[in-house]
Amino acid sequence: MLNERYRVCPNCQHENGNDANFCLSCGTKLDAAATMVKLPHAGDQKFAHPTVSITPEEQAAIDQLMITNGTIPNGYTRGGLVFADGDNHGEGGYKGAWEDLTLNLWRLCTGKNYAGVANLTIVPTVRGEYVQLFATGDALVKTV
Ligand SMILES: [Zn+2]
Repeated sequence: MLNERYRVCPNCQHENGNDANFCLSCGTKLDAAATMVKLPHAGDQKFAHPTVSITPEEQAAIDQLMITNGTIPNGYTRGGLVFADGDNHGEGGYKGAWEDLTLNLWRLCTGKNYAGVANLTIVPTVRGEYVQLFATGDALVKTV
């Protein structure tokens, strides 16, 4: 499942399985109205942080990834929605934020076996020296 569904408890916000009729944490009754789609997120991939250790195999996979704005390339199809963010930790301006976002997109793609991402929409938030970028788009998966 590329986009997981789960039932969020309205009482305690616990993320229960989509077939749960009662919250596993507090017992509140759940129904279909509590169902939410959980988008794949770079933060879910449990990569080591902040130290990034990339094996030659991972580097080779990263080198094959595509990040495109616009059309889906031939031989690929949409694999679901993705979300990633990056920030500059208060220094480096937009360049630092973009590097962090790109790293998180790599993590997301290699963790989920996506071929890349397309149609990225990137929204910046700027507070003084702090820049954060939020990116949403389509995961690319190979059709063959
Ligand atoms: Zn609950």
